[in-house]
Amino acid sequence: MVTFYTRERGLVEAVARGIGKPGSTLSAAVEPFTLSKLFFAEGRNVDYLTQCRVIEAFYELRRDMTRYAYAAAACELVLRTTEASQVVPGLFALLESYLHALESGDADAQVLSWSFQLSYLRLSGLAPVLDRCVECGKQLRAGAYSAGKGGLLCTDCAPEGEPGLPLSAGSVKYLESLMEFNPDHIRHLRLTDQARHDLQAVLRSHIRYHLDLSLKSEAFIRRLRRTDDRHPTSD
Ligand SMILES: [Zn+2]
Repeated sequence: MVTFYTRERGLVEAVARGIGKPGSTLSAAVEPFTLSKLFFAEGRNVDYLTQCRVIEAFYELRRDMTRYAYAAAACELVLRTTEASQVVPGLFALLESYLHALESGDADAQVLSWSFQLSYLRLSGLAPVLDRCVECGKQLRAGAYSAGKGGLLCTDCAPEGEPGLPLSAGSVKYLESLMEFNPDHIRHLRLTDQARHDLQAVLRSHIRYHLDLSLKSEAFIRRLRRTDDRHPTSD
């Protein structure tokens, strides 16, 4: 049984028979992150993958552990938060463009991944509210982010003792700009350490709170990054 994300039908689980056998024409399509044209036969209880034509194999993503992990994080997010046959408009194109950008390797993989997550939240109607206070509606350029409220709070509405995560106008601007997945924009982006910290913190708590999810592949990426930090020349 293999799970595919498809343009027309969203998540599809299908039986791919014989993929372990030598010469199986289906085995290429079940490699992770492979973009293919697929043909299914509807069975009584399950679908069967009958034919495939690989369009893009994304080999680089399977050769490099870091990029593999970032590609896996996106797939995990989609897999764990969408129902079978639920089509999120725009998600297929977003996934495709994310995998292309990771494969080309000319933009920061972590920022690509944040932008993927923010775009996914926006397409799913779950994006954090960043242009106004979620309580009183006052227009804001900076404020305190609250995961529980789903966005920014102004100084009057932020509960005392629980100020949330203070976000500067700069960090809010980065978050807003990354909600549209645009690899050209990301390539030219120079994030400060503070902005990186804020983006990571907002996304992690927003996804944990609103999707009740902590991504396993994200924990793996954190371990990879710690190893990289200890061996700065090994990249
Ligand atoms: Zn307010």
